[in-house]
Amino acid sequence: MDTNNLPRVAYFCMEYGLSSDFKTYAGGLGILAGDHLKGAKDLNLPLVGIGLKWKQGYTEQIIDENGEVYDTYHNYHYEFLKDTGVKVTVNIRNLKVVCKVWKLEEFGNNPIYLLDTDIPENGDRWITGQLYGWFGEERIAQEIVLGIGGVKALRALNVPIDVYHFNEGHAVLAATELIREKMQSGYSFEDSWVKTRDEVVFTTHTPIVEGNESHPIDKLDYMGAFNELTKQQMIRLGGEPFNMTVAGLRLSRKANAVAKLHRETANKMWKTVADRPEIIGITNGIHKPTWVDERMTKACDNNGDLWETHTTIKKELIEFIKERTGTTLCVDKLLIGFSRRAAPYKRSDLIFTSEEIISPLLKSGKVQIVFSGKAHPLDDIGKEIVAKLIRMMKKYPSSVVFLENYDMNIGRMLTRGSDIWLNNPRRPLEASGTSGMKAAMNGVLNCSILDGWWPEACIDGVNGWQFGDGVGLDDLTEVELDKHDTLALYDTLINRVMATYYGNREKWVEMMRESIRTTSYEFSVERMLDEYYNKMYIK
Ligand SMILES: *Cc1c(COP(=O)(O)O)cnc(C)c1O
Repeated sequence: MDTNNLPRVAYFCMEYGLSSDFKTYAGGLGILAGDHLKGAKDLNLPLVGIGLKWKQGYTEQIIDENGEVYDTYHNYHYEFLKDTGVKVTVNIRNLKVVCKVWKLEEFGNNPIYLLDTDIPENGDRWITGQLYGWFGEERIAQEIVLGIGGVKALRALNVPIDVYHFNEGHAVLAATELIREKMQSGYSFEDSWVKTRDEVVFTTHTPIVEGNESHPIDKLDYMGAFNELTKQQMIRLGGEPFNMTVAGLRLSRKANAVAKLHRETANKMWKTVADRPEIIGITNGIHKPTWVDERMTKACDNNGDLWETHTTIKKELIEFIKERTGTTLCVDKLLIGFSRRAAPYKRSDLIFTSEEIISPLLKSGKVQIVFSGKAHPLDDIGKEIVAKLIRMMKKYPSSVVFLENYDMNIGRMLTRGSDIWLNNPRRPLEASGTSGMKAAMNGVLNCSILDGWWPEACIDGVNGWQFGDGVGLDDLTEVELDKHDTLALYDTLINRVMATYYGNREKWVEMMRESIRTTSYEFSVERMLDEYYNKMYIK
């Protein structure tokens, strides 16, 4: 890509996953955003990030001796944030809220400007307290700071922008500011909307309707989110109640989903929304220097011994697990990695469905599983899923482990050192799933339902495995689908994965090589950014 004359992009996101030490992320959305900004730096692209400086970040989730799940929060101070000297003001609940703007460049990323309300000028210093914490009003307040405050920060910093990229609906209030600016210089609302749409692009993520945030219109009014627009104008943008994704679609000239399958799902989901662009598919990619072990890359490039390299890395994971849990897993036995947010559709406990089948494999140690993942602090069902995994760990203490407080460091260890990476969501509810890409490029073989990115990458039995087929299942009830997928999982695990692992090492290593070869560019942040520029940012 010729990096001269590229449009200058402002990337808005509620969270950024850049390092375990910087608590500004919760999960996949943040990891994607962090990798986007690191990739932009590597490729020297004119793109900056806008986000919030969280005082406590997301929950640190701890399990006690009784297997109960606890959320804990700490205040963090970061020496590496640079004070830009800039402050901007937004109106929230009829009060002025001052936002201090920090600049972050610490992690090999393009500059990210982080807004912070935790300063003495404010009565309410807690707006930027906890990522995805609290309830409706606080979320709206955070979104006012991110969106409206973010645009004001760019102006105050004198950073010229051609394209505003809203990564997920949290940022759409930025458009009220872009429209307001234009109306202030004399344009009508209609013209300002058209002009704004011309400079905004939008990425949608969650394929579950309820996961797409919406707010009662009067609550937005009371919070100050109208930003001088009228109620009728706001309803035209986001409907009533005001849906952040609907608004994102109507406010953007281009919109995308995060994998090809997700593109189909998203277009179906939002087909009744008038005045929206077609949603295209740009499959996520990962930042290789962050996620892929160099020893593996080297071994692969130089025709080295992949098995030996993998074994070394697997031993490091086993040591890491021992330090954290006291359990010593066996290096010669199959190790399944599974790490997901604990949400019911991800079916973390699917592999335990038939104890008759799985129990002997766990008792003999022929199958070992390492789990990790957090439940949202307000999600009791998610916490019950975690508690169930803990019960399984107690039942099979030498072959099932759960690592509490999932973070980037655990993610990095698991996607390098496991033998296979299991994913079994209810299709098609996984938008993309970048952890599988990390695994694939490390030669950790994916064993997954054909959801998210995997249909694009999977060559079944060659670079990993699919199970459950995924087609023609639309008429099944949830119970029938779970049963179908469970049987498929056991069949694939026993007759294909274990058969190869224990019976045909040569084929396994060949599959590792194919996994790395077929994914390393296709699912890299370089390919992804190339597509964002050519299909979204450049007109
Ligand atoms: C990679 C990663 C994710 C995203 O992975 P999914 O495949 O979407 O589940 C989430 N959290 C952490 C800590 C990660 O490292």
